[in-house]
Amino acid sequence: MYLLRTAAIFRNPLLLRQFAFLYLASATILTIAIATNLHLDAQDRIELAKVRETARIEIAKNLVTQDFSSVTSDLLLLASTPVLRHYLDGSSAGRTDDLAQLFLSLARAKGCYDQVRYLDASGREVIRVNFNAGSPSIIPHDQLQDKSQRYFFRDSIRLERNEVFVSPMDLNIEHDQLEIPYKPMIRFGTPVFDSAGRKRGIILLNYFGEDLLGHFRNAMRLDDQRSGMLLNRDGYWLSSPKHEDEWGFMLGKPERKFGQEHAAAWRAISAGDSGALQTQQGLYVYATVYPLQAGQHSSTGSPLPRSSSRRELTGDEYNWKIVSFTPDEGIAGAFESNRTGRVILFGVSYLLLAFGSLAIAYFRLSRMQARARLKEDEERLREITLTMSDGLLVADRNGKITFANPEASLLLGYSEHELLGSDMHDLFHVRGDGSPCSRDECNLLRVAQTGTTYRAVEEAFKCKNGQILPISVSVSAIIKARDAAGIVVAFHDITERKNFELELEKRAQTDALTGLNNRRHFYELAEQEIVRTRRYRKPLAILMLDVDHFKAINDTYGHHSGDIVLQLLSAVCLQAVREIDIVGRLGGEEFSILMPEANGAQAREAAERLREAAAATVVQLENEVSISFTVSIGVATLDAADAGVGDMLKRADEALYAAKYSGRNRVCIKE
Ligand code: GH3
Ligand code: MG
Ligand code: MG
Repeated sequence: MYLLRTAAIFRNPLLLRQFAFLYLASATILTIAIATNLHLDAQDRIELAKVRETARIEIAKNLVTQDFSSVTSDLLLLASTPVLRHYLDGSSAGRTDDLAQLFLSLARAKGCYDQVRYLDASGREVIRVNFNAGSPSIIPHDQLQDKSQRYFFRDSIRLERNEVFVSPMDLNIEHDQLEIPYKPMIRFGTPVFDSAGRKRGIILLNYFGEDLLGHFRNAMRLDDQRSGMLLNRDGYWLSSPKHEDEWGFMLGKPERKFGQEHAAAWRAISAGDSGALQTQQGLYVYATVYPLQAGQHSSTGSPLPRSSSRRELTGDEYNWKIVSFTPDEGIAGAFESNRTGRVILFGVSYLLLAFGSLAIAYFRLSRMQARARLKEDEERLREITLTMSDGLLVADRNGKITFANPEASLLLGYSEHELLGSDMHDLFHVRGDGSPCSRDECNLLRVAQTGTTYRAVEEAFKCKNGQILPISVSVSAIIKARDAAGIVVAFHDITERKNFELELEKRAQTDALTGLNNRRHFYELAEQEIVRTRRYRKPLAILMLDVDHFKAINDTYGHHSGDIVLQLLSAVCLQAVREIDIVGRLGGEEFSILMPEANGAQAREAAERLREAAAATVVQLENEVSISFTVSIGVATLDAADAGVGDMLKRADEALYAAKYSGRNRVCIKE
């Protein structure tokens, strides 16, 4: 049954509707939550990437600046060393060697200078130490070159004491040729003066750009996802993950610059000092580094071996851009790597949601259906109680009425209002004969105590108007938590049945033709009377009556006329005797009359009166024919020896026989 109902619910379109509603609502909420979460997640990741990259750039910036200041301090130290001053003042050969040795030890100790040089005021190399792939050496005199045409000489020799020229970073040119492999280089130069204050030439440090770029790449700690770039002020790559992009300005490829490929990004980066830029491709974080310190000068430099700088650069103009680029995949990072996990998680969530929605829809619907069934049942029950032909009462365990249907009100004559709250026993429960019944012996209330059902075909309730209402009743207990909480009393009016029973009884006792007591009942009544008579020691007489020649009446006038005679005779009998006398038809045309408290004489007298009355009776038939008849009567009285009415009747019959025999229409008594 349960399974059937379950299956039916699943076919119910309402279930689908409920489910769809619940699922849509909850799935929408889940989707919004997931989307918000993902969005926030992405925002967080972007912010995190910004902070991370900004920090890296800051470190790189500091390293670059530090490198510059470290070179500058080396340069100024060399320029102010007493060995150099002595050399400039005296210019003796031994002192040249001293200076060369100093240069050599610096190149060795630092390892970051490709060349350490002294150029005289005419631009010729005088002392030159070459790094020589890690084994620095002093270059012999005959290999020294004239550098008077190179921009770095011109830009340095112009400066004042303690001023430093810093070249742009470019690729080294040796003997008018670009050195292969490329050797990024920054030249630091400062003029030197003898004790008299005369400018004698310049000290020049060729700083390995690769050293700085290495520091830069380290600081940026690049990986597959991110790329870190160092751009010069014109947007040419000094360092790029794609090495072929680097040094475009030196290699005669002016188009190979950042702005060419990433125009929009370059616009923002070149215009701003530092910041972050979110593009479709990913995240750019950038900062500008100004490596020049106070007193440092620079110029545009020149990629050509023999041309001078186009112009001088201010400290602000000498700047590089450090750019970090993280593509979208890089930002997504861990999230992306865990995509399958998340997809499964979301899938399972939606699936669980579907199951949950289905379960809720199912339970909701079954509850709705159960409620509807209950309501239907209640309605049906109400209908039944309203229209049923039985009175229905519900009472608590003490008999206090809590419910009464209209029929109960109608039968008892009390309004529903009067019934509710009243005690049913006190109000109308009585014994069958109408006498009050005590609470202790009340069968109705006992049900509330015992919990067993009580049925009776005949009980009685007393109506409001005092009438006793015969009822059949069925009382059952309302069991709650194993205890009888109250009783339900259903009762039916049995007045009609009672009347019918009485009628039947009466018929069983009555002779149909005359309406007199029939033989059986007459005997019963007579026996009772004998008992009573004997108890009170009173006399008792009996008459036995027979129509004379009744056969002849039948024969002459017909059987029907004979019946009319018998009916008239019975009326004559009833009229002639006393109230307390009992008249019966014993059979045929024989009647008997019991006369309580009458002795023989009194009975005989009564019999005589009756005989005369009969004789005086004229039966008028329809066809103007009239019949007269006579009766013979035998009288007997109760004898102490009589066992019953039979003995009395026997003697009366003997007397009757005597009356017949002596000529009929007379009374005889058997003493
Ligand atoms: P007697 O004077 O000796 O009593 O003569 P009788 O003719 O009255 O006596 P009998 O006993 O021979 O006849 C009785 C008749 O009564 C016979 C029967 O047909 C008739 N009888 C008996 N019961 C009824 C009845 O209910 N209706 C009619 N019409 N006749 C009846
Ligand atoms: Mg007879
Ligand atoms: Mg007769």
